[in-house]
Amino acid sequence: SLGGKTSVITGSNSGIGLGMAWELARAGADVVLNSFTDSDEDHAIAKEIADKTGTNARYIKADMSKGDECRALIEQAGACDILINNAGIQHVAGIPEFPVDKWDAIIAINLSSAFHTTAAALPMMRDAGWGRVINVSSAHGLTASPYKSAYIAAKHGIVGLTKTTALETAEEPITANAICPGYVLTPLVESQIPDTMKEYDMGREEVIKNVMLKRQPSKEFATTEQMGGTAVFLCSPAADQITGTTISVDGGWTAL
Ligand code: NAD
Repeated sequence: SLGGKTSVITGSNSGIGLGMAWELARAGADVVLNSFTDSDEDHAIAKEIADKTGTNARYIKADMSKGDECRALIEQAGACDILINNAGIQHVAGIPEFPVDKWDAIIAINLSSAFHTTAAALPMMRDAGWGRVINVSSAHGLTASPYKSAYIAAKHGIVGLTKTTALETAEEPITANAICPGYVLTPLVESQIPDTMKEYDMGREEVIKNVMLKRQPSKEFATTEQMGGTAVFLCSPAADQITGTTISVDGGWTAL
């Protein structure tokens, strides 16, 4: 059980981050949820997790595009045994047209935020004598596709940061790993299905299998619960010697 451990999950009011929060809470960990908003809904999600799992769950607002807010999130959490860097955004455009502000935002949110949170969390993990850094990369942290330059640069970058974090903590009871999801059916992905159906004049199942999951050999989406289960595994004693590596949860994408 992860009882007594505090997890901080960036970008966790929806999708994969929220799925990870649920699984960590079910495994007994306290959770700190985060996004850049501060709505009743955000706090209600934390309350629901606390009510249903009996763990302490809180929501803390912090904008992961800003380094000082990344560090403040960890300070405000007060403890951070398990750090999950999950916040991320995407933008699709060719390199010459790629908006510079989008490039800067993606590098800040998808990559630099993890540097700032890790810098703030490692001293706490060292004081606590145990720690887990789990970075959410992507199949696009290991392979590329056109028109996603910033995302792919950031997701490859976070794999490099993961390896360095692992080497700097190698002789301590702290590990650092990256999870590389393939396509996961989050609200973000779900919302693209109707438009893609129109664009290709296909039904839902056909769009999912032949367009969205073209590169995912299993032809099935991975789930947020599976991402959470992988994070819980990385926090288990079985994973004590797993550090500085990537775990693909991608239905075979990176085997192609
Ligand atoms: P999502 O949009 O549901 O979740 C992204 C989260 O990040 C949200 O909670 C959002 O509020 C938060 N966020 C965005 N900007 C932020 C900011 N400035 N500060 C704080 N939080 C911010 O999408 P998701 O699919 O759950 O993505 C989560 C992570 O998983 C991302 O890093 C994404 O790149 C990665 N990923 C997703 C997939 C997929 O198929 N869904 C595949 C591979 C990797």
